[in-house]
Amino acid sequence: MMSAMRYVSGPTDRVVVVGAGLGGLACALHLAAAGRQVTVVEREPIPGGRAGRLVDSGFEFDTGPTVLTMPSLIEEPLAAVGERLSDWLDLQPLDPAYRAYYPDGSTMDVRTDTVRMAAEISRVCGPREADGYLRFVDFARKLWLLERDHFIGRNLDTPLDLVNLNLLKLLGMGGFRRLHTKIKQFFRDPRTQRIFSFQAMYAGLAPHDALAIYAVIAYLDSVAGVFHPKGGMHAVPRALAGAAEKHGVEFRYDTTVTRVEISGGRAIGVITADGSRIPADVVVLNPDLPIAYRDLLPSAGSRSLRYSPSCVVLHVGSRLAYGKIAHHNIHFGASWRRTFDEVIRDGLLMSDPSLLVTNPNPKTYYVLAPAPNLETGPMNWRGGLGARYADSLIRTLERRGYIGFGDGIEVLRVVTPADWADQGMAAGTPFAAAHTFRQTGPFRPANLHPAYPNVVFTGSGTQPGVGVPMVLISGKLAAARITGGVS
Ligand SMILES: Cc1cc2nc3c(=O)[nH]c(=O)nc-3n(C[C@H](O)[C@H](O)[C@H](O)COP(=O)(O)OP(=O)(O)OC[C@H]3O[C@@H](n4cnc5c(N)ncnc54)[C@H](O)[C@@H]3O)c2cc1C
Repeated sequence: MMSAMRYVSGPTDRVVVVGAGLGGLACALHLAAAGRQVTVVEREPIPGGRAGRLVDSGFEFDTGPTVLTMPSLIEEPLAAVGERLSDWLDLQPLDPAYRAYYPDGSTMDVRTDTVRMAAEISRVCGPREADGYLRFVDFARKLWLLERDHFIGRNLDTPLDLVNLNLLKLLGMGGFRRLHTKIKQFFRDPRTQRIFSFQAMYAGLAPHDALAIYAVIAYLDSVAGVFHPKGGMHAVPRALAGAAEKHGVEFRYDTTVTRVEISGGRAIGVITADGSRIPADVVVLNPDLPIAYRDLLPSAGSRSLRYSPSCVVLHVGSRLAYGKIAHHNIHFGASWRRTFDEVIRDGLLMSDPSLLVTNPNPKTYYVLAPAPNLETGPMNWRGGLGARYADSLIRTLERRGYIGFGDGIEVLRVVTPADWADQGMAAGTPFAAAHTFRQTGPFRPANLHPAYPNVVFTGSGTQPGVGVPMVLISGKLAAARITGGVS
């Protein structure tokens, strides 16, 4: 059963895209490919939004995503305008994709080559666990193909759009059971259970709350592969913006949109902070969806949402290099369920932190610590807490093997939930609405405004969801609403 897909009605020749995040850029490319006249209006002097760039005292840092999966989804908007990814980006596969460090002192390299990964699991946990891994890969691959083709890559207007044979297949595979229950069917060792389920956090949930459909995130990064663009993650939005410009998209940087102009029940343009007006047949909004509703549209229309946890990021430029670490390092604390409960349910800082340390070049460190968002855990980040928490994370890393880490620091920038809020992210989280069942698929805020037929949303707050791959898909889905293309 399927309802007719909704499209933008009326003329669609001139489109204004507010925001040059990855969602806005992907959308702009698909629209340019379909012959639309596109203007991207971006508040910052550079593209990328959360995938931004920070430069301090000769050190350069990616400000947001570091784990890049599914490069084919970057290829897609480029291919739409006839460009080849290899002409714009030099992507290197990371091997290992991650290095996991466990509280018992053991480590495990997550390799995307299944034969080598099975050997690694066998080395650390024994051959029986490796068999479970191979069964998991088989399960997760089928799950991904099913979800990609029938649920993620399509515009879904009503729950009816989900009701088809594939939903039954998903049910049959246990997709609607809890992730941790499903993971236990394949893995017995807590170390493998963790490495194949911690990704639920990316969806804003604990493995004991997330649905098993989110096993696909573990599949994407630990099986399908993690890549690193030469020049850092910010090279991705730069490439997309460069290709868009080449194909006629006009960019206005350093320009903040203050509101969407509405007349006769339709958007007719946007107004910028300097008071100018840019006319449009269609307006695409890439800012965080609840904030776009609150600040840019006449009536607050976004329903109340449950937000993902947030994070604190330390950007460290150091004199020291640590030879034994990989590009991505996950340092698991001893507690597991308690950590998720603290951050997601109780609004507390982790008492026994699990941390991601990304080390893209020998002396640059990016430390990500999950933290409560400002709704579950309102904290006075400005009043010295940010600095104190950064200090405690640095001590934790020193205890976990980064000898002299604090003394080696030349540059330290601390980004807290208060900073994410200042950048226009609802509840001070850069990870948008959590992927609970009620905020997934057709239940997630729609990408077509319910009242204004020519206002479209793209980005992590709308369908399909959060993270670079999903946001790139959201750009394509938003464009399809405008061009009437099949999505
Ligand atoms: C610390 C961190 C780590 C992450 N790690 C990963 C990871 O490893 N892997 C992964 O896949 N994903 C990761 N993510 C998530 C991923 O980065 C995001 O889901 C994605 O980049 C969001 O893109 P977007 O297009 O929705 O929004 P944004 O990137 O926020 O783009 C919105 C754009 O709109 C602009 N804008 C806002 N308001 C206005 C206005 N009024 N006028 C004009 N312009 C405006 C903003 O400046 C911005 O450029 C991470 C994010 C963060 C912050």
